[in-house]
Amino acid sequence: MRLDEILDGMLRAEAEKQKPTDRDKRKAFYASKEWRNSKARYQALAASGGKCQACGASPTDGVTRLVVDHIKPIRKNWMLRFAPANCQVLCQSCNLGKSSDSEEDWRAL
Ligand SMILES: [Zn+2]
Repeated sequence: MRLDEILDGMLRAEAEKQKPTDRDKRKAFYASKEWRNSKARYQALAASGGKCQACGASPTDGVTRLVVDHIKPIRKNWMLRFAPANCQVLCQSCNLGKSSDSEEDWRAL
C-alpha cells in the first residue's frame, strides 16, 4: 500500500469519527440494555440523590421523570456515551430546555 493511500484512509476514518451520530442510532442506544444497565447511568443516578441536578426538583415536587443526560451530546461525541463524567441527571423540563448542541454542565449552576 502506498503512503498516500494510507493517509487517505486515515483522513477518511477521522472524518467518519467526527460525523454526527444519526438519530436512529442514538434512539437505539438509549433503549439498549447496554445503556440502561450501564455503570455511567447508575453512577449518575446515585450521585444525583434522585433530584434534577439543574433545578433540584425531585419526585416529591411533582417531577415524574428524571433522565440521565449527556453533557457533551452523543450526537457529536459518540465516544463519550459511557463516560461517567459526561452524565448528569435532569428533570424532563430542564432536559427539554437544553438542546442537543449544548455542552453545558448544568450540575455546576
Ligand atoms: Zn430540572
